[in-house]
Amino acid sequence: MEKALELIKAEIRELYPYKVDETCCAVKLDANENPYPLPDELRDKVNKALSEASLNRYPDPYARELKELISKWLSLPEDFLMLGNGSDELIQAILIATSWGSPAVVIPTPTFSMYKITGLAVGHSVFEVPLDDSFDIDPSAIIEICRREKAKVIFLSTPNNPTGNRYSDEKVLEVIRESHALVVVDEAYGDFSGKSLIPYLNDHMNLIVLRTLSKIGMAGLRIGIMAANPALISELDKVRLPYNINSLSQAAASVVLKNMDVIEGQIDAITSERERLYDALKEINGVTAYPSEVNFILFKVKNADMVHKELIDKGILIKNLNRQGRLENCMRVTVGTPAENDAFLNAMENI
Ligand code: PMP
Repeated sequence: MEKALELIKAEIRELYPYKVDETCCAVKLDANENPYPLPDELRDKVNKALSEASLNRYPDPYARELKELISKWLSLPEDFLMLGNGSDELIQAILIATSWGSPAVVIPTPTFSMYKITGLAVGHSVFEVPLDDSFDIDPSAIIEICRREKAKVIFLSTPNNPTGNRYSDEKVLEVIRESHALVVVDEAYGDFSGKSLIPYLNDHMNLIVLRTLSKIGMAGLRIGIMAANPALISELDKVRLPYNINSLSQAAASVVLKNMDVIEGQIDAITSERERLYDALKEINGVTAYPSEVNFILFKVKNADMVHKELIDKGILIKNLNRQGRLENCMRVTVGTPAENDAFLNAMENI
């Protein structure tokens, strides 16, 4: 057994896996999902499309219909796009494609954990640069480390998970201009901020923008979107596994993308609830809430482990981010339905 384990790369054996909290709670506000199901009429259309999918056949390897709909939605030509089984898979594809020589990645922290986990797993050295006091990036520090380590990739989650803010566009553009690395602007939460760096793709060959359908109501379908210049997409597409988007996901997502007005309505409901939740959270004694441009709010309490446990006892699950450093006693709550947010706020007031 031990000998078998030794065959696994040391960097992987040393990794802490990405943890999903599976505690069962009636109010689930831990995973940045859209709390609203599809309305019945649209769900029926999805069900019909699913029932017509040929399960004995491989899916369309290029997910043509879905890609065409996404191209219209994002106003980008199709050859600027590559789809993934969630944007997690696209992050992995970028890291695999750049894992030659002595590969290195630069990430501002705190940020989404998969950049580091996947980076280490595929052989990159990972260099972390702390965010400043307002959770913005320090472009000079990033550019300097990137040059020194000849880093091949920089991941900028903007808006950032878990801090909830967008980095300054000027600073992000400075990093794109001044570094020779691929700069991955991860806009997983971009739909809630209404802003995007997609318009800059034409000017910058080293810019990659990631989007996802996960946060806006389709987390179960696992559809991630990569946008970059066609020459770069062609190279990265060679790493993509054949048939990475299954037939059922292609069929279901295509129906939803033809009805984006429904999703846009849900995004509006979430962003207005976010403001109400933020205002109320700020007023609770002992809570510091940070401004949010996304579908979740980062906040700090005196004892996050205790608050997390007491919330679970009351049937409410949020994410406990408590660890030494910038996130000490910090927690992240996803914006839910008005009733879910009320339940969370009431519980917080009592705690
Ligand atoms: N990027 C960021 C910043 C995220 O927070 C997440 C989800 N936690 C992802 C990417 C991955 O999203 P998915 O694979 O569901 O598209």
